[in-house]
Amino acid sequence: MQAMGFVPHAADRRVWLEPGAESYADRVVSQLDQAVFRVERLHGLPFHAPPKVYVCATPACFTRLVQTPGLTAAVVPDNRVVLSPRLNGPEAHRLPGILTHELSHLHLGQRLGHYTPWIPVWFHEGLATLAAEGAGAELGTDQAACDAWRAGRVVDFSRRDVPGRRHRAADFGLDINLFYRQSWRMLALLRDHDPDAFLRWLKMLQEGADFHIAFADVYATDMSMLTRLLCEVAASDDARGHE
Ligand SMILES: [Zn+2]
Repeated sequence: MQAMGFVPHAADRRVWLEPGAESYADRVVSQLDQAVFRVERLHGLPFHAPPKVYVCATPACFTRLVQTPGLTAAVVPDNRVVLSPRLNGPEAHRLPGILTHELSHLHLGQRLGHYTPWIPVWFHEGLATLAAEGAGAELGTDQAACDAWRAGRVVDFSRRDVPGRRHRAADFGLDINLFYRQSWRMLALLRDHDPDAFLRWLKMLQEGADFHIAFADVYATDMSMLTRLLCEVAASDDARGHE
C-alpha cells in the first residue's frame, strides 16, 4: 500500500516524495545505492524486497506518518522509511548516515517483522548505528560512554525484551546518545574481534533463531560477559592513552 499524497520518483521507484520535495528526493536517490550496499554488507544478506523510502517536503507530512516527536527519520510499521525535511535543511549533512541507519532497521524488519521485540532494543540500535558508522550516536562521545560505564551506567546486554516491556536508555541510566554509543561499540568490538563469528550470529538471527541461544551457540558463552568485556576494553584503551 502506498501512502496518500506521495508520488514516485521518476528515476527510482524505491523513492516516493511529497510534491515539493523534488530536489530532496534527488539527493536521496543519489545516496540510496551506497546506503543499501553498506547495510547488505554488514547484515550479510540482500534486502528481502526493494526498500521503500518516503521523502517529506513539510513537517506536517512527517508528523502525519511518524507520531514519535523529535525524530528526523523513522521506519513505520509497514516497513517504510520516512524522512523529515530537517534532513534537507540544517541537518542535510546527516542524510547519508541516517538513511543507512534507518535502512538497517528496515532490512531486519523485512525478515523478522517491524522492530521485533524478540531482539533487544540495544541490538536494533547498535546494529543500525554500526551499519551507518556511528550515525545515530553522533552526539555522544566514547569518553562519555566510558565514564558512564565506570559509574555503573551501562547497557545490560543480557536483559531480555518482550512485547510491552522493552529496555531502553533510561532503564540503564543512560541518555539516548550514550545508549546508542555503548550498543554500537559493543557490536563493533564483536565484529572486529571475529568477523566470521559475527556474521554467523547475524545470519542465525535473520533466520529467526532465538537471540540469546544463537549468541551462546556462536560464542560459547552468554551475554553477561559482554558488559565486563566492554569495561575491560575501555580500561585498557585508557591505559594506552587512546581517545
Ligand atoms: Zn534507530
